[in-house]
Amino acid sequence: MKNEEKAAEDKNKKPVSSKKQRRFERKLASGIPSATSDAFEKINYLHQAAALLSYQVPECPEFGRYYMYNVKQICQKMCLKVEPAVKHQSCKFCYTYFKPTENTSLKIREHGKRKFCEIKCLTCGKVKRYPLENISKKM
Ligand SMILES: [Zn+2]
Repeated sequence: MKNEEKAAEDKNKKPVSSKKQRRFERKLASGIPSATSDAFEKINYLHQAAALLSYQVPECPEFGRYYMYNVKQICQKMCLKVEPAVKHQSCKFCYTYFKPTENTSLKIREHGKRKFCEIKCLTCGKVKRYPLENISKKM
């Protein structure tokens, strides 16, 4: 009898949780705002589509350019930051999706003690320079 009563009491009791834990659970339940997560999903999709189309349809690089342009437009509209790995794969000026040795030339240069990776877009001729330390950390 005693054991059954004790078990019934335990079922009625709510689990003890601290104020901090409850706040954390509330935060988890709310999650990321849906508009932001939708935007990240769309950015991911567009980036993958740009990569796929620029490799599968090499005679028409406008597909890749169009999708990368859309990625930038979404980021500007939603005030989001583009991941550096995504950002380094397309030209900042003409939105061409970079395909190594086909539409880009890559050089490693030294300026003083620091090394830089220079990526030249062969479509528009612009050069983008990234510090080599940052690239090795993020990729
Ligand atoms: Zn370019």
